[in-house]
Amino acid sequence: MSRKGILFVISGPSGVGKGTLRGKLMETPDEGLIYSISATTRKPRPGEIEGRDYFFTDAETFESLIASGELLEWAVVYNNYYGTPKKFVLDNLEKGIDVLLEIDIQGALKIKNAFPDGVFIFILPPSVEELGKRLNARGKDSQLEIERRLACYEQEIAHLHQYDYAVVNDNVLDAVDKIRAIITAERCRVRRMQ
Ligand code: 5GP
Repeated sequence: MSRKGILFVISGPSGVGKGTLRGKLMETPDEGLIYSISATTRKPRPGEIEGRDYFFTDAETFESLIASGELLEWAVVYNNYYGTPKKFVLDNLEKGIDVLLEIDIQGALKIKNAFPDGVFIFILPPSVEELGKRLNARGKDSQLEIERRLACYEQEIAHLHQYDYAVVNDNVLDAVDKIRAIITAERCRVRRMQ
């Protein structure tokens, strides 16, 4: 039986561990699932690699991608552009390969309009206190930046009801198991079979 690929969208507040969960999830070989690498104008952090973590670009190039309709969605997140390359996602879905996006909430809501059949997974922190601790512990952002990200949290969590699933990231391996279970269940849905 064949089917089109399923679009899985992992989203949630900054610092909740989406990137870690996505990385762990993609460590397990799954030929039917591919991660869509985003474009961003953010500068690479130490250890990040062009074409593996992001396609790093400048604002001018990013704006030309927007103008030529090459992005499925894009958003300004903490003063930088982030966007999902359209062709890669559509080509893989057409081939029957499931595509994973790990994007912010604004982006996920835009995708939901265009792909109501996608699967939207909201990653929650165990608590707002824990989120603050994690943002501090990862040492990637200034204090001002951390405060800005925490202030966004309340607004972001208000969108939870627009998602299909909620996964609390209290333990990485447990959370990844839950995401895998969601992927497996969605692949078994009768209505997706052609
Ligand atoms: P970071 O700079 O920490 O890698 O990512 C900041 C935020 O941007 C995270 O919430 C991440 O999920 C989000 N993000 C990464 N790629 C994209 C994308 O292509 N589109 C949107 N809308 N958000 C993205």
